[in-house]
Amino acid sequence: MTDVPYEDWRARAAGLVPHTGHHIDGAFQDGPETTPVVAPRDGRTIAHVASAGTAQVDGAVAAARRAFDTGPWPRLAPAERKAALLRWADLVERDRETLALLVSLEMGKPITDAYGIELRALIGCLRWYAEAADKQLDESPRGSASSLALVTREPVGVVGAVVPWNFPLTMAAWKIAPALATGCTVVLKPAEESPLSALHLAALGTEAGLPPGVFNVVNGPGEVAGRALGEHPGVDVLAFTGSTEVGRHFLRYAAASNLKRVWLELGGKSPNIILPDAPDLDAAADTAAWGIFFNAGEMCSAPSRLLVHRSVADRVLDRIVARAESLRVGDPLDPATEMGPLVSTAHQARVMEHIEAARASGARLRAGGGVDGRFLAPTVFDQVKPEMRVAREEIFGPVLAVLEFDDLDEAVTLANDTEYGLAAAVWTSDLSTAHRVSRALRAGTVWVNCYEEGDMSVPFGGVKQSGHGRDKSLHALDKYTDLKTTWIEL
Ligand code: NAP
Ligand code: MG
Repeated sequence: MTDVPYEDWRARAAGLVPHTGHHIDGAFQDGPETTPVVAPRDGRTIAHVASAGTAQVDGAVAAARRAFDTGPWPRLAPAERKAALLRWADLVERDRETLALLVSLEMGKPITDAYGIELRALIGCLRWYAEAADKQLDESPRGSASSLALVTREPVGVVGAVVPWNFPLTMAAWKIAPALATGCTVVLKPAEESPLSALHLAALGTEAGLPPGVFNVVNGPGEVAGRALGEHPGVDVLAFTGSTEVGRHFLRYAAASNLKRVWLELGGKSPNIILPDAPDLDAAADTAAWGIFFNAGEMCSAPSRLLVHRSVADRVLDRIVARAESLRVGDPLDPATEMGPLVSTAHQARVMEHIEAARASGARLRAGGGVDGRFLAPTVFDQVKPEMRVAREEIFGPVLAVLEFDDLDEAVTLANDTEYGLAAAVWTSDLSTAHRVSRALRAGTVWVNCYEEGDMSVPFGGVKQSGHGRDKSLHALDKYTDLKTTWIEL
């Protein structure tokens, strides 16, 4: 929690001079174009950031390639990489307020969450993979008396990371930290909406002593800079977090270029099942509301479909509606704000289009449904039918779709009736029900009597069209390493 008052955050915002170049080979570099970064809180342009063409991407990949092929980074003792990553985490901690402010300004996250949640996640992730770096062991299977086999983990090489704006630093760290810990080098392309925090992070990496080319950032539109990374023959692995639609592009880019491995963390439409025997129905309702309105619903894992047993639907819904109506929506720089603006007016218009479509399809609006300037009200629809768009498409805004059911099988069928499979939850006091439903739900994560619980040691990712591969945990190291077998005749 930060105790910096509202006036101070505003004053600091007014005086902020962010980095605006690409960060390539350890230095900032301009060109060839610039793009404005617009603060969703008031629509003001807070910076003009360099925007890459393919030449800048080529330069960044070449720098990462040199750093990997001939530089010190992959050849350091793991304990030395650990030390560098820990120094980096310390500098992030030193600049925690500045980084939180950049995040809050560029994408509208409430400053309390930016400081308390996003920055805690970034620092924790850097330290966790730093600590893991020197604790990986290779294998030597027992062969014959006359030979020795070694199975070693080798860093894959240059990693391209393309990330969204909703948790700009956390999503980046989940890729950068394990990749660097194994000895890979990285080129990150942040979302156009949120380059400033990533550039500050890069400057701190250089200050921490990362050798030139180990961590590079190129800004620019996805169709140019993201695509150039996806198609680049010098990139060995592409780690992507974003929409399912853009995920498909990356598979095509890989197929059309060097068959690089592509890891995909994509969208979701996660079901949250509340059964009448939930240990605490009020807590279930409060968590359902918190889950969909946290980060203005701009959460891949948001519980956007509430499946509630008909016998308790009124009670649960009344409480969610009351919460929606009492949420403090406003300026993200005010530490008391619980929900800020959506990332852009374009995104706000997309979410409003979903709201209109839900109304037109016959869903009943129970809360919100409108905008007040730059702020969209927390919105709840009930009487939702499974075939409606509001029940099927990822909205990525504070819009809850409530469906009712009469028995457990129906709930599980409804829950799995989606092309996505990122997360799911069930609320019940019955141990067998908890296990049976968890097994039946097709999702990368199932929460029982909670939502959004997580820890760096626990993997996160999806099944079906929510993607594949896992961020976080020791398993993420597999994405950035290859197994090498070495036979030695004795
Ligand atoms: P997005 O539109 O898919 O963009 C993600 C990134 O891809 C951005 O950096 C974007 O660049 C780039 N990009 C866009 N079009 C591209 C193209 N044709 N070729 C290459 N790169 C391209 O997603 P978003 O709007 O930023 O974020 C929201 C989405 O992210 C949601 O679907 C959400 O569910 C998903 N998400 C998933 C997770 C997870 O862990 N599963 C976590 C967070 C978010 P520009 O925007 O700069 O053009
Ligand atoms: Mg975008």
